[in-house]
Amino acid sequence: MSDMGGDAIEQAWDGVVATARRTAAEGLVVGTSGNVSARVGDVVLVTPSGVPYDRLGPGDAVGVDLEGRQVLGEMVPTSELPLHLAVYRASDAMAVVHTHAVHATAVSTLVPEIPLVHYAAAMLGGPVRTAPYARYGTRELADNMLAALRERTGCLLQNHGTVTYGNTLDEAYDRTAQLEWMCRLWLTASSVPGLRPSLLTPAQLRDVQDALKGYGQPG
Ligand code: 13P
Ligand code: ZN
Repeated sequence: MSDMGGDAIEQAWDGVVATARRTAAEGLVVGTSGNVSARVGDVVLVTPSGVPYDRLGPGDAVGVDLEGRQVLGEMVPTSELPLHLAVYRASDAMAVVHTHAVHATAVSTLVPEIPLVHYAAAMLGGPVRTAPYARYGTRELADNMLAALRERTGCLLQNHGTVTYGNTLDEAYDRTAQLEWMCRLWLTASSVPGLRPSLLTPAQLRDVQDALKGYGQPG
C-alpha cells in the first residue's frame, strides 16, 4: 500500500473510532451495540464485533473489501458487515452509522413510516421508512434495509435501531442524530391524551426539499 493510501486509511480509522465513541457518549448506543464504517477507495473500515469503543486505538483498524474479505487487522469485523456492504454497493455512501437509539427504536416497533411531524424528514430524503424485522447480522436484514432506504439516506430497523449514511462520517452521524430527534418529537407529540399531532403533507415536504438546496452558506 502507498504511504498516501496508508495515511488516508489511518485518518479514516481515527474518524470511525471517534464516531463510534460519540454514539456511546451521546447516548445513541449502550455498550458494544451499534457499529460504524467508512469507505476509503475499495477498502471499508469497520468497527470490530463486540469490542467497547474506548478500547480501540490507532493500531486496531479492521478493513474489508466490498465482497467482505478481510484486508486489514486481526479482529473479527462487525456482525452487521452485510448491512454496511449493502449500502456501499448500492449507493455513493462514504460512511455508515448503525445505532440502537432509544426513541428511534421505540418508533420502529410502532409504525412502518415515521409520520411527517417535522420538515427534518427532508434531510433524510423524505418520509423515513421502517425495514421489516430480520435477525441482526443477516443478509435478509440487509435486503430489508436496502428496500427501506430507497431514495432515503436513513431508515429504521424494526425492533432493532437505525441506519444512516452520508458522504462523511459527520454527515452520517448527524443524520442519525436528526432521526433520533424526530422520533423523540413524534413520541412526545403523540403521547398527549386526546390530541393528535398535525402532520405535514407530502407536497409541503417536497417544498422543503427544494428550499433546502439553498440552505446554509453559499458553496
Ligand atoms: P457488533 O458488535 O457485531 O457490531 O454488533 C452490534 C449490533 O448492533 C448488531 O446489530
Ligand atoms: Zn444493531
